[in-house]
Amino acid sequence: MGEDISIPVQLPLDSDGFLRRECPNCEQEFKWYHHQEDDPDAERVDQCHCPRCGVAAAPDSWWTPDQLAYMQSAAAPEIERAIGDALRDAFRGVKGVRVSPNRNLRLDVDNPGQLTEPDDMVIVEPPCHPNEPLKVPDEATSQVHCLVCGAAFAA
Ligand SMILES: [Zn+2]
Ligand SMILES: [Zn+2]
Repeated sequence: MGEDISIPVQLPLDSDGFLRRECPNCEQEFKWYHHQEDDPDAERVDQCHCPRCGVAAAPDSWWTPDQLAYMQSAAAPEIERAIGDALRDAFRGVKGVRVSPNRNLRLDVDNPGQLTEPDDMVIVEPPCHPNEPLKVPDEATSQVHCLVCGAAFAA
């Protein structure tokens, strides 16, 4: 035990390649452009600014409740298997103990079904960082903050 388990879960992007996000501060939604892993245009940042309220937070703190539920359910079989392996290791060599954890162990997770990403919101491009386009709801385009540097602009 003690090892991190990393489980890749694919989240759906909309047809323009944007990923839905929710601000941990104002809890409003927007989307950011999801760069491919080797995209040289991708900004490497420690903090992202919310386009809606401008407050910054770590890049991994922007999950929507639906995405969290989806990841949890997608990861559950993997976690179950890892726990099963750990239990088997723990009991290895102990006489008279037989463990078949996979049968007895069930993580109770709601299955939210397939997550889908609707093509809503409008694309806005920060003049300071045009390589990091955003999507915000129609009514929110008059003041948008750049994801990278937090500078306010009107689309
Ligand atoms: Zn916000
Ligand atoms: Zn900027």
